[in-house]
Amino acid sequence: MSPRLQLIDGFGRRLSYVRLSVTDRCDLRCTYCMSEHQTFLPRKDLLSFDELERLSLFLIDSGVERLRLTGGEPLVRKGILGFIARLGEQVHQGRLKELTLTTNGTLLAGAAPALAQAGIRRINVSCDSLKPEVYRHITRGGDLGKVLAGIEAAQDAGIRIKLNVVALAQDNRAELPEIIAFANARGMDVSLIETMPLGDEISGREAQFVSLKDVLADLRSFWHVEGVPDATGGPARYYRVAETGGQNGTRLGLITPLSDNFCDTCNRVRITCTGQLYMCLGQDDHVDLRSALRNAPGDEGLCRALEQALALKPKAHDFFIGNAGLALPVRPHSPARTMSLTGG
Ligand code: SAM
Ligand code: SF4
Repeated sequence: MSPRLQLIDGFGRRLSYVRLSVTDRCDLRCTYCMSEHQTFLPRKDLLSFDELERLSLFLIDSGVERLRLTGGEPLVRKGILGFIARLGEQVHQGRLKELTLTTNGTLLAGAAPALAQAGIRRINVSCDSLKPEVYRHITRGGDLGKVLAGIEAAQDAGIRIKLNVVALAQDNRAELPEIIAFANARGMDVSLIETMPLGDEISGREAQFVSLKDVLADLRSFWHVEGVPDATGGPARYYRVAETGGQNGTRLGLITPLSDNFCDTCNRVRITCTGQLYMCLGQDDHVDLRSALRNAPGDEGLCRALEQALALKPKAHDFFIGNAGLALPVRPHSPARTMSLTGG
């Protein structure tokens, strides 16, 4: 089918990649992501699977090539594997180049075969420590064993894994080389992520912030770390560590929204589990796709809402994390919504 709408923003960036949050709920409470007593949205506010599917098909018709499901924790939503199987048909028919998932891995062991069957070839698994007690502390109660079992099951099912690791000054900075070595040795890429100032209720984040420029300098004091070109339009800058990834081709990505913003080539947008489309993680401007889906049976409403959204995608975000020692040309701004709501 020919595209109904060309998703090109005011700066000429073609939006080919969408992150779709399927729930705000999660079985963990990572300290940098949620408050301990997080309240969740009423279920009626969430897009139903039928609405999520209708929206996904519309986006695919409009030229979206890659879809990443996220949350909250996508695998905690009841019925998610059936939904993924339905979207997987778009991969099998060649209409969607990639269907992927970001997960905390706690339910991955049971889900891995179904994910592979749905055409998912790679996923991101978030895990910030390989020490059970540190992992439990960061996630407020998580069981590292389940995540490691999930990783193994996914690899056994033929799914490639990238490990997402939020760099935390106090909790895991010293452990980062060990995590990179662990992942690369098992054929996994690693993305280190700077903590982003999302969510009003989360305190203590400034103390946990560490610039990945400093982490890179640390790594270079004992490893050979070479930059490698990448043209995915994604936020990471990629490296290869001769001592850990040089042989098997695994990479180290650094996601540095604060110390070095990555907006120039950004080709991605995010849709929350309530159908709010955010053109930039660091901005509050959004359009309401849920109303467009619920108020009109045809696609005209969606079309109009997306046109409005394209005009909103900013040239760059304007994150700010207080006194983190950053010299950024930004106005002080920290979106009130958490990553679990926007969809990381
Ligand atoms: N629950 C899934 C998971 O943890 O992978 C998917 C959703 S989670 C919001 C997606 C990613 O966002 C995770 O890798 C997580 O570490 C990251 N994240 C959450 N809050 C963040 C923050 N404030 N700064 C940087 N990364 C964050
Ligand atoms: Fe849950 Fe992922 Fe947020 Fe951790 S980062 S609390 S696993 S949504």
